[in-house]
Amino acid sequence: MARLSLRGIKKRFKAVEVLHGIDLDVNDRELIVFVGPSGCGKSTLLRLIAGLDPITDGEFLLNDKRMNEVAPSRRGIAMVFQSYALYPHMDVYENMAFGARLMGLSKAEVEARIAEATRMLRLEPLLERKPRELSGGQRQRVAIGRALVRKPQLLLLDEPLSNLDAALRSEVRLEIARLHREIGGTTIYVTHDQVEAMTLADRIVVMNGGRIEQFGSPRELYETPANTFVANFIGSPR
Ligand code: ADP
Ligand code: MG
Repeated sequence: MARLSLRGIKKRFKAVEVLHGIDLDVNDRELIVFVGPSGCGKSTLLRLIAGLDPITDGEFLLNDKRMNEVAPSRRGIAMVFQSYALYPHMDVYENMAFGARLMGLSKAEVEARIAEATRMLRLEPLLERKPRELSGGQRQRVAIGRALVRKPQLLLLDEPLSNLDAALRSEVRLEIARLHREIGGTTIYVTHDQVEAMTLADRIVVMNGGRIEQFGSPRELYETPANTFVANFIGSPR
C-alpha cells in the first residue's frame, strides 16, 4: 500500500524547466492515470517518483516518508517502461528472477514470487523463451511480471500499451485493471490517450506544459472540467 504526496515538484534540465511545481496527493490502492499531450512532462514526473532522475525542487513523500534522497531500489517502487527493456539474452524466468535476486531475497522467496507472477499473468508456457521469441503482448506481460516479483508498494506504468495493436491493447488494459485490484497496491499509469484514462482510472491527473490542469475522477472531469483545455482534451460537452 502506498500513500503518495508530491509537494511543489520542479524539474529543470540545464536551464529549461519542464515541471513547474506539481502538487498531488494520492491515496492507498488508487489507480491514478497521468494523461496529457506528448511532451507535457508525464514520463519526467514518473522518473522522478521512481528515483531515476533527481528532483530539482520540492518534496516527494511515500507514506509520509521523504523519498528525495532514497535510492531507487529502496523505494518499494517498480516501473514498467514503454519499451519493456527486457534483458535479451535471458529467458522469461531469468528476466523475472534477476531483479528479485538483486534485492537480496532467498532462492525460495524468489521462486515463490515468480510462481505467483507467472500465475497472475499466465506466463507458464513462456518461461523458457527469450524475449525475441515473444509477441508484443507477451513481452509486455513479462515486463509487468518482472515488476511484480519485486512486490512494489507503488507500480508505475509508462504508456504500457503503446507498442501493442488495437486488439491487444484492450485486452492488456483489462489485465492491468485486474492486476491492480489483485495486488492491492497503488498504481500510476501514464498515457496520452484520453479513452484509456477515462476507462481505467479511479482518478485522473490532466497534465499540460509541465503543470496539472485538473485532478479528479473521470466523472468530475467530464461533468465539471476546470477549463477549456480539460474540456477539449477529455471531450466533454462544455
Ligand atoms: P511526456 O512523457 O509527457 O511525453 P516528457 O516527460 O518525456 O514528456 O518530456 C517533457 C519535456 O522535458 C519535453 O520537452 C522533453 O523534451 C524534456 N526532456 C525530457 N527528458 C529530458 C532530458 N533528459 N534532457 C532534456 N530535456 C528533457
Ligand atoms: Mg512519455
